[in-house]
Amino acid sequence: MSAPLLKIREELAAQIRAHGVETYPYECCGAILGRDGDGSREVIALLALANRRDDSPRNRFEVTPGDVQLAEKTAREKNIELIGWYHSHPDAPARPSEFDREHAWPWYSYIIVSVQSGQPRDMNSWRLRDDRSAYDSEAIESSAHSASI
Ligand SMILES: [Zn+2]
Repeated sequence: MSAPLLKIREELAAQIRAHGVETYPYECCGAILGRDGDGSREVIALLALANRRDDSPRNRFEVTPGDVQLAEKTAREKNIELIGWYHSHPDAPARPSEFDREHAWPWYSYIIVSVQSGQPRDMNSWRLRDDRSAYDSEAIESSAHSASI
């Protein structure tokens, strides 16, 4: 299998960054809706979700069964698929934490944006291995226009 690729329009990437800035110093999170193609995926729409963990919303991103239902329903209505999840890391690098690995599911794309002192920095995407042992990096291809697949 070739290295996975996630295509996203600049406008949608900017939306993820803006969401992370808005909720700083807490994490933002949302669903990524789009199309899963041969070796690459395309982000078509985003669905912002509330981070419901109130014990430690600063570094604990968790998706509830209700979030999954809502995201799948929204995707169906748009004739696309739920392909992943995004969240922010306030004052932390854009790579998955141990908590993230324990709470993630294989197959999905996980976009993480680092927000340092309220400013968006790196944005990376990850996929959890099927055996859940580790994440693999997924390249993000950002473009001004939507590519059709
Ligand atoms: Zn995280």
